Amino acid sequence: MSFFSKKKNVKTQEPWKITRSCLDLILECSKSNYPNEFGGLLRVNPNSKDVINEIVILPGTVAGESHAIFQLHMLPIDFNIVGTVHSHPSPSSCPSDADLHLFGKYGKVHIIAAMPYAEDSWKAYNYNGEGIEMSVI
Ligand SMILES: [Zn+2]
Repeated sequence: MSFFSKKKNVKTQEPWKITRSCLDLILECSKSNYPNEFGGLLRVNPNSKDVINEIVILPGTVAGESHAIFQLHMLPIDFNIVGTVHSHPSPSSCPSDADLHLFGKYGKVHIIAAMPYAEDSWKAYNYNGEGIEMSVI
């Protein structure tokens, strides 16, 4: 069996989806918190586990470049929460070192919204900090 035919059998996660209203809320919260960061958790519809349709907003976001807005001990154990979302008060949607640390510790999918918080200024990442596809439905 060739390397390539083996590789086909690797099970991959279905592409994540996010509802339009959920994405709009993320962009809206990012804008209204600027120049502070906004942070929240991504929750899926319990009936369709690959569709993110709810944001759980975390209280007490802080300003600054550290991105240390998520206190791991504050994060709830909820099997419908699949990851995190936060905003960057800059045009870069690249994860910081602190972001990568968080991604590796909690959740499967993460969104970073960058300035100007428009339709095309956000990005989704997996737990490794690698950019992944996410469709808006
Ligand atoms: Zn960040």
